[in-house]
Amino acid sequence: MLEKLSSALKRTTDKIANAVFLDKNLVDSVVKDLQRALIEADVNVSLVLEISKKIKQSALDERISGIEKKEHIIKLLHDELLSILGGKKEIQLKKKNTFMFVGLYGAGKTTTITKLASYYSKRGHSVCAIGLDVHRPAAPEQLKQACDKINIPVFILPEEKDPKRIWNTYKEQLKKYEIILVDTAGRDALSQDLIKEIKSLSLLIKPSETFLVMSADIGQSAKAQAQAFKSSASVSGVIITKMDSTAKAGGALTACSEIKVPVVFIGVGEKPSDLESFDPESFLSRLLGLGDLKTLMEKIHSVVDKKQIESQQARLAEGKFTLRDLQTQLESMESLGSMDKIMSMIPGLGNAKEKISESQLEAQQERVKRWKYSIGSMTPYEKENPEILEKQTSRIQRIAHGSGTSTTEIRSLLKQYKMLKEMIKSQTNISEKGLDQKTMMKLAKKFGRKMKF
Ligand code: GDP
Ligand code: MG
Repeated sequence: MLEKLSSALKRTTDKIANAVFLDKNLVDSVVKDLQRALIEADVNVSLVLEISKKIKQSALDERISGIEKKEHIIKLLHDELLSILGGKKEIQLKKKNTFMFVGLYGAGKTTTITKLASYYSKRGHSVCAIGLDVHRPAAPEQLKQACDKINIPVFILPEEKDPKRIWNTYKEQLKKYEIILVDTAGRDALSQDLIKEIKSLSLLIKPSETFLVMSADIGQSAKAQAQAFKSSASVSGVIITKMDSTAKAGGALTACSEIKVPVVFIGVGEKPSDLESFDPESFLSRLLGLGDLKTLMEKIHSVVDKKQIESQQARLAEGKFTLRDLQTQLESMESLGSMDKIMSMIPGLGNAKEKISESQLEAQQERVKRWKYSIGSMTPYEKENPEILEKQTSRIQRIAHGSGTSTTEIRSLLKQYKMLKEMIKSQTNISEKGLDQKTMMKLAKKFGRKMKF
């Protein structure tokens, strides 16, 4: 069910959660992915654009920074998606309930009645069904067979062509049941004839709920259909069927929310048990692949150690950048995953990624690994005071030997380190303000460009 959308949404939240800096390129690419996925799921383009705009605005909002910004954006995405899915309507059972099912041919009315009958009878309610589809000859028999299978009493009059007469015939017998499920006839399209029939049945039956049954594969046209049924037959809720067999379900779901008719159940297969009550919140959590929003926030925090970043930013703000800082940086890169992932997290490298080949990427990955070994073979004093290494060749030889690298590599590492340090010095405004997100991004970009592959 909406697998493609689900995996795209998971990718989006992962990308945001894993990003070290939320720069414009990253936000643009995340928003683009999101747009594509939502449009593929048939969500209305103007809704998609609205969500995109809000996300971009908040991503570039300078007042929110760092981890708070990620939380903010993911929460925003969550809330926006929730709002297009609509509110939750729970069916409150009364002492006596009559549910009338309306909809076009093949929408899934009869199948859904079987599902609901099974759902409620399993929960201990007395349920029955009555067949008022007088237009298709096989309809009463279809309802009977389906109900027989799950031992639900069913009332039909196969030869009768007037649905009101069928109702009146069984009126007294129906009173025994807590829940009466009324199957009605559809048409190929919403015709005046159908509206008239539904209206007059409504007056007679006085249903406690009128459910419009629509198939998810009609996508966004669900909006016009729901609107028409709503205004002519006072629909109290929608049931979207065949959620399991289309990628367009986003269209049908969001269309109903747009015209404010709540989706109450969704059909997810042909079996009697393939029915779910529709709860937008948990539906969305499942799409996003999360237990709840809290889990998501925990995920963000586990990826980036806030304290570590803060202490490093503070050191950088003072113009301090030693090999130990570089080591921390490289280690945090490692803990964040593969090089591929790292590349996309560092703005400068992320841009460069498209221009470099797989083998170059591997070479770079290898190089970072060797840097780490090299720094690992240094003494704490050397890490804090890298300048002594340049003066003492013997130290370089020892480190190369200890880390299984070469003196050339150590020198290259020192060169890169010096370059980084220079950049930090030149860019850093050593004021009480500290190093802000913008400066960090500029630095990372410059580093990315200067890095030789
Ligand atoms: P009606 O004309 O509105 O009564 O529609 P039916 O109940 O006869 O259903 C039409 C077809 O849709 C049947 O073949 C059902 O098996 C199928 N169908 C109904 N609901 C679902 C669903 O949730 N998933 C799938 N895959 N098929 C469904
Ligand atoms: Mg039917």
